[in-house]
Amino acid sequence: MKALSFDGKLRLRTDVPEPSPSPGWAVVRPRLAGICGTDLQIIEGYRGFRGILGHEFAGIVERCDDPAWAGRRVVGEINIGCGHCEACRAGLERHCLERRVLGIAGHPGCMAEFCALPLANLVAVPDGLGDERAVFVEPLSAACEILEQLPLRGRERAVVLGDGTQGILCAWVLSTVLADVTLVGHHPAKREAARWHHLKTSPGPGREERSADLVVDATGSARGLAEAVDLCRPRGTVVLKTTIAEPFDIDLAPVVRKEITLVGSRCGRFRDGLQMLHDNPDLPLERLVTSRYPLESAGEAFERARQRESLKVLLEIQ
Ligand SMILES: [Zn+2]
Ligand SMILES: [Zn+2]
Repeated sequence: MKALSFDGKLRLRTDVPEPSPSPGWAVVRPRLAGICGTDLQIIEGYRGFRGILGHEFAGIVERCDDPAWAGRRVVGEINIGCGHCEACRAGLERHCLERRVLGIAGHPGCMAEFCALPLANLVAVPDGLGDERAVFVEPLSAACEILEQLPLRGRERAVVLGDGTQGILCAWVLSTVLADVTLVGHHPAKREAARWHHLKTSPGPGREERSADLVVDATGSARGLAEAVDLCRPRGTVVLKTTIAEPFDIDLAPVVRKEITLVGSRCGRFRDGLQMLHDNPDLPLERLVTSRYPLESAGEAFERARQRESLKVLLEIQ
């Protein structure tokens, strides 16, 4: 089968063996896959991953041993737990120490004609939800993870740093529960794409954005955390969404002085992302799609995704 593989270089291969379904697993035919910041980090060396890339997809179940799933349109949770540790038994495969992660750690990803996932990871896509919206369930669920982690009351003032896809999704999700949310980013076109209901946007942290109760760093850059800590009020909360390949130095003294709570935040539950799409049918996801390329033009698609003015770049598979 065709697959986009990374072995130190990005290569479109045509000789990759198709996965075959083990009991309790499905072989899925992805139709659309999203390129995300993590994929760009992986090709810079993040986590040393080698193999087929991709963890954001909407697709069709091609083969499995459960007829109830055959032929269904699905999205798939990306963490594959061991199934028997304490975390897995508590439904937290996302934190299983033995976990593999679709296209990120120890398991081939979805930028291929076929990929394999446990049936337990699949979530059916409702009929009214097109692939071009469903492909956002993974990054949207990651944004929803903030709501699972923090008990927000609705009166907090929140600032999201970073006008990339993850920053915009976090700002949208927060603005479903908070009245005062500002997205800070340098790109006028991205700020324009982010406008939705009462969400405010700003080109740079000004006085307005200081002393926020909650600051989310979704800059994808090493300076984001320090900036977030600077904007956060004493005893406020900073949520870190940025993962970068390179280690970096940061002065943590302000975290101590201001008694800031730092919260790392990664993947969320897909049912939360799907619920968010269901409850907010006007969520303007289509504005986040910079362009679509066939899998055969994946090199070009990754180049496009890397450009600073790009938001989500999608790969059409088949
Ligand atoms: Zn991602
Ligand atoms: Zn486990």
